[in-house]
Amino acid sequence: MPSLSRVEATARGALITVESYQVDLDLTGDAERFRSTVTIRFRATPGAETFAEVKPHRLLGVRLNDRDLDPALLDDNRLPLTGLAASNTLTVSAEMAYSNTGEGVHRFVDPADGETYLYAMSFLDDVQRIFAAFDQPDLKAPVTLAVTAPPEWTVAANGQLADRPAPGRWEFAPTAPLATYFVTLIAGPWHVRKDEHDGIPLALYCRKSLAAHLDADAEEIFTVTKKCLDRFHQLFAERYPFGKYDQAFVPEFNAGAMENPGLVTLRDDYVFRSAVTDTQRELRATTIAHEMAHMWFGDLVTMRWWDDLWLNESFAEYLGTRVTAEATRFTQAWTTFAMRRKAWGYAADQRPSTHPVAPEEVADAAQALLNFDGISYVKGASVLRQLVAWVGDEPFLAGLNAHFAKHRFGNATLADLLESLSAASGRELADWAERWLRRPQVNTLRMETAVDADGRWAEAAVVQTAPEAYPVLRPHRIGVARHAPDAPAHLFEVDLDPAADRGRTVLAELIGQPAIGLLLPNAGDLTFAKIRLDPASADAVPMVLPGLADPLARALLWGEALDAATDGERPVTSLVSLIAAALPAETEVIIAEDVLSLSRNLVDRYLDPLSRDAALLRIAGACATLLAGAPAGGSLQLAAARGLIEATTDTRLLAGWLAGEDVPEGLAVDADLRWALLHRLVVLGAAGEPEIAAEAAADRSATGAERAASCRAALPDAEAKRAAWEIVTSNTDLSNRLVEATAEGFWQPEQAELTAGYVERYFADMPAAARLRTPWTADRVATLAFPRYAVAQPTRELAAALLARDDLTPGLRRRVVDLDDDLRRALIARTAVAAAGA
Ligand SMILES: [Zn+2]
Repeated sequence: MPSLSRVEATARGALITVESYQVDLDLTGDAERFRSTVTIRFRATPGAETFAEVKPHRLLGVRLNDRDLDPALLDDNRLPLTGLAASNTLTVSAEMAYSNTGEGVHRFVDPADGETYLYAMSFLDDVQRIFAAFDQPDLKAPVTLAVTAPPEWTVAANGQLADRPAPGRWEFAPTAPLATYFVTLIAGPWHVRKDEHDGIPLALYCRKSLAAHLDADAEEIFTVTKKCLDRFHQLFAERYPFGKYDQAFVPEFNAGAMENPGLVTLRDDYVFRSAVTDTQRELRATTIAHEMAHMWFGDLVTMRWWDDLWLNESFAEYLGTRVTAEATRFTQAWTTFAMRRKAWGYAADQRPSTHPVAPEEVADAAQALLNFDGISYVKGASVLRQLVAWVGDEPFLAGLNAHFAKHRFGNATLADLLESLSAASGRELADWAERWLRRPQVNTLRMETAVDADGRWAEAAVVQTAPEAYPVLRPHRIGVARHAPDAPAHLFEVDLDPAADRGRTVLAELIGQPAIGLLLPNAGDLTFAKIRLDPASADAVPMVLPGLADPLARALLWGEALDAATDGERPVTSLVSLIAAALPAETEVIIAEDVLSLSRNLVDRYLDPLSRDAALLRIAGACATLLAGAPAGGSLQLAAARGLIEATTDTRLLAGWLAGEDVPEGLAVDADLRWALLHRLVVLGAAGEPEIAAEAAADRSATGAERAASCRAALPDAEAKRAAWEIVTSNTDLSNRLVEATAEGFWQPEQAELTAGYVERYFADMPAAARLRTPWTADRVATLAFPRYAVAQPTRELAAALLARDDLTPGLRRRVVDLDDDLRRALIARTAVAAAGA
């Protein structure tokens, strides 16, 4: 399928204006296909030629004005349209295929009760799998949808329901102008909860088999939704512009959620069926706020082309986090941002595939999908936070409001936004934008100190550096904090001048002061930069960290320790020592969770098997201590238990918990925890297919099926590995989720010998496997199935040979380039640690 290019979109955008879409879908057919008819009214330069896009199973009819066109004219996904009049009507009817990959109209049969559910996902250019369209973000038009469905079903869409003239017939009112990638609907025997707030009708949808779990949390979800709406209405002059606000929790969704105006779709893993930590509840709240932010940023004002994708995602990430922290009970959302989200952003920005937050030009829609990464979301959001620190909050919001007023229901570019922000703040932002938005890669802010004979700081400075390949320093407004045991934190702000001699900014405030405690750069986390402590401060971390009251400061210190270990500047074993010393005192759930998961990645990839065993033993010990001290039934207890399950090799303890023996008081061994226990037992060779089959029989949910698939792939057994690899590389009958779960279970550090032969198989099989799948699933599979634990030069040589081929999909190429770079860094770190130990 040719992907629409920027040049083509610009040309078509100049030629036509779309006035309306009238869409009629018939969902009463078989399990394979549905019927789609669309009538598009559009104006054009008379005599001009252009094309519409559609990806049908079978094209049934095309009528342009008073002419029937031959369906055979369809060239791949493009329908040529010639001899246009000033005012045109195009009608296209087709048989369309359902998907099992979360794209177009996804069809799902719930294993719990056999019920069928459908939902539509148009992003990024998949509206073409639902109806024919001019599929580019700046050809916005009202959409009027009608659906014929089985009579017992419920249907919802972007627009308000206008009429139900007959059983199974659903007719919706015209929407406000929508970009084509926002069109959605859900259809099936959905469970519904309704509410209302400030004149805005609210609804929640989920599968019937999840109804009890949604009902248990409906109040929390509605409360978050209402508080976020109120906060956005305080921040923005324009009220929520799309009438009703529905949120549908849908099965096997690829992303966290999608910001369809009037009907947000969210992955139904957010309907919790087992005990979860408060971090998971916070993530659900942040996702709700993120999608709501899109209603203004993305939906009301849409990017002109995909190169301004960051305008959507960076703003939604920034405002989603901010509004969650300001308006909901999850007041520590910025700590989660610092700990979890920024780790994703820093990793993406240091990879070979790094790109500017705002790339000058994204050639086509397929290329745009590759930019959905930690840069477009997290770095962009972090840069916006830095912008707010730089120009002030009031001018920032005034600029945004001017931007909305000017471009409402239209499209805009980065230049348009900068113009509004410059006007509101009175600041010239061109140089700032050039350094922050147009240049890739991350700066490092390193503290340098020297102490005089009286124990006072003779020198204290922040030194800003940049990687050799991207030598750009930036203006940073940062906080610097001094943390000493038994003393209140001392915090001050300082501006780092990109033109400063050797990137060095002296902290005059500290010179001559008693050199006590630990100095933390980027305190408050206002900027996007790697940080490094001065040696004395680094030495003080194990002592200071456990007593530090501010969770954000602790998150930054943990982040520094993790990053230094990732870069091989400090051995992973010293990170493990820090975990042993400080984790048992941790009270913030997100910090405990992410220290465990991020360090585990290093332990599994940077350490040889013997050192790894020793490290896991120490981590399991720290988890056990944390568990023993955690309040019964709370999030910290659950986080500690999960950490212990993942790290321990004590199969008697694991099997005991699974049998309900010696379970810590308050810890619920529910469906999800049972699967975690079983998964670990399977990896350790202490449970097999009979146990998996028994667990799956007891848990017939969709989640149960995914967990079972992951467990089966993790079995330390040659036949199980063969079957799993077959699924990963060639099965398209299973849904996106089941394939991904299989890929997720395949590689285990404990099974290096058993899976050694599959290292080579990855590089041999993946090019064809990637072509077999649609981009999103192909990308997930390429990532999860990569032999990430085979940290060795021969793996890199296989990667190099693969990358020398010219027949790779762009998605696979990008993924292998990055994952190979992870191997490179791991190898360097291993060498450095070996040298330090020798
Ligand atoms: Zn988003």
